[in-house]
Amino acid sequence: MGASKGNSAILHTGFDAPPQTLEQHCIADGYQSYMHIHKRLGLSVHRVGALVIAWTEEEENTLPDILERAHLNGAHDAHLVGKTEIAKKEPNLSRTARSGVFIPGESIIDPWTSPYLYQLQAIENGATLARSCEVLDGNFNGAEWQLKTTRGTFFGTSVVNCAGLYGDALDQLLMGRSTFQIKPRKGQFLIYDKPARSLINSIILPVPTRLTKGVVVCPTVFGNLLVGPTAEEQESREDASVDNPALQQLAKKGEQILPAIKEHTVTASYAGIRPATGRQDYCIETHKDKNLTSVNGIRSTGLSAALGIANYVFKIHSGGHHSFVPLKEYRWPTANPIDESMQRDWQKPNNGGIVCHCEWVTKREIHQALNGPLPVGSLSGLKRRTRVTMGRCQGFYCTAQLKEITRGCFDDSPSVRKTRVESHRQFLGD
Ligand SMILES: Cc1cc2nc3c(=O)[nH]c(=O)nc-3n(C[C@H](O)[C@H](O)[C@H](O)COP(=O)(O)OP(=O)(O)OC[C@H]3O[C@@H](n4cnc5c(N)ncnc54)[C@H](O)[C@@H]3O)c2cc1C
Repeated sequence: MGASKGNSAILHTGFDAPPQTLEQHCIADGYQSYMHIHKRLGLSVHRVGALVIAWTEEEENTLPDILERAHLNGAHDAHLVGKTEIAKKEPNLSRTARSGVFIPGESIIDPWTSPYLYQLQAIENGATLARSCEVLDGNFNGAEWQLKTTRGTFFGTSVVNCAGLYGDALDQLLMGRSTFQIKPRKGQFLIYDKPARSLINSIILPVPTRLTKGVVVCPTVFGNLLVGPTAEEQESREDASVDNPALQQLAKKGEQILPAIKEHTVTASYAGIRPATGRQDYCIETHKDKNLTSVNGIRSTGLSAALGIANYVFKIHSGGHHSFVPLKEYRWPTANPIDESMQRDWQKPNNGGIVCHCEWVTKREIHQALNGPLPVGSLSGLKRRTRVTMGRCQGFYCTAQLKEITRGCFDDSPSVRKTRVESHRQFLGD
């Protein structure tokens, strides 16, 4: 529900990250790790490649440096492409494209099912998750932590602070100091309807600036086309609203890059807030005297780097008071895929019928999302788990039925919730 709920869904190779930084290391490792495990978790990857396009002579002059950095960062198959090759690869792109760099490994993934499955796998292998559980205070007595939360007190030998937009505040709370300051940076997006997906084959990137990777035109694994994000520094860590002037700017930018997009319909808009800091790298530090590792400043690459960050944090956090014993065997849960290219639940028998016809979401998928070891806790969670109401009509046709199925599910009263859980179980035959 934090920064991770609204991103561009690109699995970066790290080709453009500052070389020899922690961020570059974690992205490259995260990318390899994802490629290694995604099939076992039933997660997809679309290796569509990315084209960094130079639109001006000045930008064109920077392409050799971009290519050199890509090679240095391990993207050895990255290469320069001329005007003719660009037109062949992307016939709908504006003819003003001068030249570019193509990075074949850049990919798109499902940004919601991946973190969900990482979490589910942790739970199925013994982890306990406490949701709606804000850490309010903490005390370390030299051997053990005592964390006061809105759901009671928790005890443990070590703490990992990965509080995203509140990372600095949590370090302050737990240690009385923070070595970094979160500077929220909003990114707004436009989503174009499915027919627009066929306008491009790869991810279209601009030449990046120091502040941002710039506005991307990108396909999604859900079969849409996305234009964004903006890069807006703001005070608020919560305000993920969208505004018309910014969205109009994005539409204009999209049309400059891909003129035919003008004929297509925008079906949705959203915004995410990057937990940026003043630094050009992640802020990951272990405080050995406190048994605390702070994992913060994971700005615009956290989806790609997540598994690499986990590997890195495991290494630096292990040792000392910690004795982590690796499991001998792991469970590998899977989920209903919401990626358009995979076999969806509506294609299988006994699914209870389709509820959301724009996104082909079945009644069984909704009941399953509301049930199981990690049930969704809100309507927006249900959307990200199943894509219900996220299509062309934005819920105009299915909301009434959805309201009926989910009645009481997000109610705080335990008795109402219990009754609803029973009804999902009955439907699923559990
Ligand atoms: C506009 C945009 C575009 C992006 N595009 C991409 C992309 O294409 N590819 C890519 O790899 N990455 C991308 N990212 C980056 C990625 O989404 C982020 O790096 C990542 O989500 C940061 O994750 P996080 O876990 O650090 O923070 P979060 O997802 O915010 O998680 C932090 C969690 O900590 C919780 N928390 C905070 N305070 C407390 C407390 N006191 N007690 C208990 N819990 C607390 C919050 O509720 C939240 O759930 C993008 C991000 C944005 C915003």
